[in-house]
Amino acid sequence: MASIFVPARRYAEEVPSGPFFVPDRTRARLVQSLCRRIPALDGAPIRLEAVRHLTDRRGPVHAGSFLRQRRMAFDCTRAEFPRVFVHELFHFAWLRAGNPRRHSWEAVLASELRAGACGELGWSAEWRKNALAAHDSLSRTRRWREYCCESFCDTAAWLFSGTLRHAEFTLPARFRRRRRAWFLETIGSRRLSI
Ligand SMILES: [Zn+2]
Repeated sequence: MASIFVPARRYAEEVPSGPFFVPDRTRARLVQSLCRRIPALDGAPIRLEAVRHLTDRRGPVHAGSFLRQRRMAFDCTRAEFPRVFVHELFHFAWLRAGNPRRHSWEAVLASELRAGACGELGWSAEWRKNALAAHDSLSRTRRWREYCCESFCDTAAWLFSGTLRHAEFTLPARFRRRRRAWFLETIGSRRLSI
C-alpha cells in the first residue's frame, strides 16, 4: 500500500466480479480465477482502477489501496497483477483481522528476527525490514507495525497468487514453512473479512 492520492474514477464497462468491480473483462477473468485460490471473502464491494504512472514519495509503485473508499488503483503488468492484487486485497483483510490475529502475526516475525532471518516475500516488506532498528519490535513502533502489515500482505501474495518464483522471494525456506503454517492455522478455510 502506498501513501498516494488517486482521484476515484468510474468505467463505462465496469464488470462485477465476485465482491469486486473491475475495469474490463480481461481483468475480471483474472480476478475470478484468483478468487478461486484465496479464502472466501466477506465484505462490501471493492472497486479496481487502472492508473498510469503511479508513484509515491519513494518512486514508482505497482498499486495503492484506499481502504475507507474501498478501492485499489493499479499500475502493473499482467504478469505482476496476481501478486499485486492479492497483496492489496490483504491490506483490507489486515484492517479487519483484529488485534489477537495481528499480534500473533507480529510474534511470528519477532521470532524470525531473533533467529536472524534475512529476506522477505516481497520488496514492500523487505525494505521496511531492512530499515528496522533493534528497538522497533520491542516498542512496537509505527515502523514495526507497518513492516508487519506489509509482510502479512506480501506473504499472502506469495501463498495465494499462484506465483511460484519471483526475484523478491528471498526469505529462506524454513521461515516460509512457518509462515505458511500460520496462514493455514489462522486464516485457513474460514471466510476472510475484507
Ligand atoms: Zn502494501
